[in-house]
Amino acid sequence: MKVALANPEIDGIVLQCLGKTFIAGADILEFGKPPQPPHLPSVLSELQNSPKPIVAALFGTVLGGGFETALSCHYRVALTGTKVGLPEVNLGLIPGAGGTQLLPRVCEVESAIELITSGKHIDIASPQAKGIVDKIVSDDLVLKTIEFAQQVALKQPVIATPLLNVKMGEAEDTIFAQYRAKLAKRARGQQAPQSAIDSIENALNLPFNQGLKKEREYFLSCRESTESAAMRHAFFAEKAAVKYPATLNKIEPLHIEQIAIIGAGTMGGGIAMSFLDRGYPVILVETSEENLARGTSGITERYKKMVLSKRISQEQMDIRLKMMKATCCYDDLHDVDLVIEAAFESMEVKREIFRKLDAVCKPQTILASNTSYLDIEEIAESTARPEKVLGMHFFSPANIMKLLEIVRCKETSETTLISAVALAKHIGKISSVVGMCYGFVGNRMYSCYGREANSLLLEGATPSQIDQAMVDWGMAMGPLAVNDMSGIDIAYNARKENPNLSKNPLYFHAANLMVEAGRLGQKTQKGFYQYDEAGVKSEDPAALAIFQQEAKLHGIPQQEISQAHIQERLIYALINEGAKILEESIAKQASDIDVIWLNGYGFPRYRGGPMFYADTIGLDKVLESIQQFYQVTGKEWWKPSPLLVELAHAGKRFSN
Ligand code: NAD
Repeated sequence: MKVALANPEIDGIVLQCLGKTFIAGADILEFGKPPQPPHLPSVLSELQNSPKPIVAALFGTVLGGGFETALSCHYRVALTGTKVGLPEVNLGLIPGAGGTQLLPRVCEVESAIELITSGKHIDIASPQAKGIVDKIVSDDLVLKTIEFAQQVALKQPVIATPLLNVKMGEAEDTIFAQYRAKLAKRARGQQAPQSAIDSIENALNLPFNQGLKKEREYFLSCRESTESAAMRHAFFAEKAAVKYPATLNKIEPLHIEQIAIIGAGTMGGGIAMSFLDRGYPVILVETSEENLARGTSGITERYKKMVLSKRISQEQMDIRLKMMKATCCYDDLHDVDLVIEAAFESMEVKREIFRKLDAVCKPQTILASNTSYLDIEEIAESTARPEKVLGMHFFSPANIMKLLEIVRCKETSETTLISAVALAKHIGKISSVVGMCYGFVGNRMYSCYGREANSLLLEGATPSQIDQAMVDWGMAMGPLAVNDMSGIDIAYNARKENPNLSKNPLYFHAANLMVEAGRLGQKTQKGFYQYDEAGVKSEDPAALAIFQQEAKLHGIPQQEISQAHIQERLIYALINEGAKILEESIAKQASDIDVIWLNGYGFPRYRGGPMFYADTIGLDKVLESIQQFYQVTGKEWWKPSPLLVELAHAGKRFSN
């Protein structure tokens, strides 16, 4: 740029990038390391203060520091399809090189607030992007940017972006307060989006340089925060989880194209949609024409809603439905590459299905079960191809939830495993490979969390106190409301079928009492809560009376329980079980457990996952509390995990 500025024959500058995109943002690996020259804010200051007009030629994904670079130029021309965004809040940060000061001077303040506090990428042609670019072209980007520079930029006085006024548009000054309140709900518990609002408001009230200085202070304070460390951990943990198993990279995944799903219920329907959405043909199998019709119309209805809400077009819906075939005949499955079984949660049913599949499917076909708890190794024994059997545990609603637990059994071959990992990536899932045990990683830990919620009910906490404590802590929903929603009887029946669970009579006692009283949750309008005709829940004195009576019977004193105690009991139960899962090598690394909790159970991303959260508290402190729970309750399940003891005594962490 210095050369161009010094050359009297050059009147204006076009800033272009080679390769697949304009600058797409910082290398996150550089965070926490000493900054490498040149320092971005100084470079941007030179662009902003250039006496010759600079026009940026944008294409690809223009994000973070790349977008701040573009905003520092005097004009922007973009190729159709260009996306822009300031994704820093996704890492617990705010833009740190002028984004909060420059963007509201270029587009309307409300769009700037939305873009910065959501961290989303938007298409340059969307209404929200109005003002960001001066021209959109469909081809010959550089040539047309030069033309624009000659015809427009060189004919106007050069005005640096920092000298422009903030564009308030229709917005009032109160917009900042409105967004603070909105974000307190939408980004509950997070500091970065609130700091972003403060910084954008400074753009209105302070001269550019002072606003910039303040922005830097907020940025540095966010960068040092636990929130940002947790969100960066989550980012890398997800990358590491899907790389698994790194040592097997040389094995080629099998080509999987035709999928069959057994069972067109809640999960089967959602799993089918996950594949149809990505262009895979799907065969749905049911036990009767009636069940089949119910299953396929469920899928059609879900797609219709997506068309109505403009998430997909009618044409896209039609294409998807055309790729779905429905049958009651297993003989239609001879040529499929993968079968995912999502029938009833019963060992007998699943073994029978796998026996039939083994008989009709070609030898290469992979057979997966979506079971929540059952022993997949036992299911595999009903086939002559145990090396081709594994768990593919989707979460509900399966077409929306990102997580896929891939369960490796003793005999699952590496090719089978790698093929499932590759497929998960193709359908946009975040997968984590785990070993075989009751409930795998997620549900095994969830049962410890639920167990404590159940114990607290007998000790005097009410369902709404427990749920509110966990929502305030950052969980998407409270455990008892979730249980009422999914049906208390489902886990009850699963516990009944499992001979290896705790024999302690107080284990899930409150839930057992609810089921035995016919209170199955929302579907019976009574569970831990009561529900009115509109489905609105409230505390039910009848349920509380059952807990009180039972506490008396077992000599459990009922008392006031603090929010902090509820939170510690539930979260530390997760951590202790997570440590046992690591000890048993059911999860390969602590970050895999975090990925499962962040993507499958509504664990707050700004806390990084249960294992990372334990690290931020300090394992010695976590251990001390767990030891105390063990001593006070005498319950075997509070016995501290030996791995936790070892790491805490060595002053180590779960995460690297
Ligand atoms: P569901 O009752 O909604 O659906 C099961 C379907 O399987 C029914 O439509 C039934 O007709 C069909 N079916 C039963 N036997 C069959 C057979 N032999 N051949 C073909 N179809 C058969 O149950 P769901 O909630 O979809 O759960 C299915 C599986 O997914 C279970 O193993 C469950 O543990 C697991 N799972 C459920 C959830 C959830 O949140 N619901 C989450 C993860 C995993």
